[in-house]
Amino acid sequence: MAKPTKSLAFKEAGRITMMLDKVLGDDRFDHAPVDVINLALQYSAQTSPDSPILQVTKRDIPGCMGALVYGKSQPRQWAILYHHDQSPGRTAYTVGHEFGHYILHRKLIDEDNHYDGGIYCDENSVLRREGAEIEHEADEFAANLLMPFHDFRRQISAKTVPSFDDLGKIADRYGVSLTAATLRWLEYTETRALLVVSNEGFAHWVKTSKPALKSGRFIKTRNTMYELPQRAVAVTQDFRQETVDGINQAAGVWFDEPLVEMCIRSERYDQEMTLLHLPRNEPVFHADEVDEDTFDQFTDLSRR
Ligand SMILES: [Zn+2]
Repeated sequence: MAKPTKSLAFKEAGRITMMLDKVLGDDRFDHAPVDVINLALQYSAQTSPDSPILQVTKRDIPGCMGALVYGKSQPRQWAILYHHDQSPGRTAYTVGHEFGHYILHRKLIDEDNHYDGGIYCDENSVLRREGAEIEHEADEFAANLLMPFHDFRRQISAKTVPSFDDLGKIADRYGVSLTAATLRWLEYTETRALLVVSNEGFAHWVKTSKPALKSGRFIKTRNTMYELPQRAVAVTQDFRQETVDGINQAAGVWFDEPLVEMCIRSERYDQEMTLLHLPRNEPVFHADEVDEDTFDQFTDLSRR
């Protein structure tokens, strides 16, 4: 099978990553995450002095997480806006996403009437990594810039089954949210795992690792309401350290095989994150049982 070509988003983020590794050292993440606000300002000023990002500003932009906007003058002067009600981790990812639009799409945004005044990005585009093409590219740029695989894999190998504690430490290392770090891990893990984000017993969205999907373990959420199993911790509301660390769920609760369930509740966002770790021995599965939209759950993976 031919190796998929690397995307422009991947290449551009990789170029900046190599530069940062060179300037700050290979161990830079031991000291600090990417300072993405200053990076966006300085990098754009140096590489595009006529048309830089002049400011990165906190704003009230209801319904949006961030925006890349431009002023009236030519050549264009740009600004990144980020919605005020975000944790520092989410803010970093949002700014990384908008910086990605600047690097990859500013010409398109300037020339296409569709983006009059700039581009505004909602939660679906930034947080769940499920937006349209250019949203997807901006996300890929942000993930690669803030959480480069060469460092991530050194922290958690592809065969490791991490706890929320492990993923939380990684999130701190990269200055991103627990959600962003978990989604990044799901992109390369060789283990079978699913992340379910829910509220009031219903799944908002689900992301699946490639090995889990290949073994026929997935949960459909597109155009359908998925009700969590009655014994899921998010439903029983039995939030304790043990349920964060992981409890055994028997075959028949989530799938036709036992698994380890970890659940953590976020009061701030009024939702639960449930991580399902399936055992290593995968069941026999026929690929034709997977229908098209299931693959939407890991478009990030299939493109790489
Ligand atoms: Zn966007």
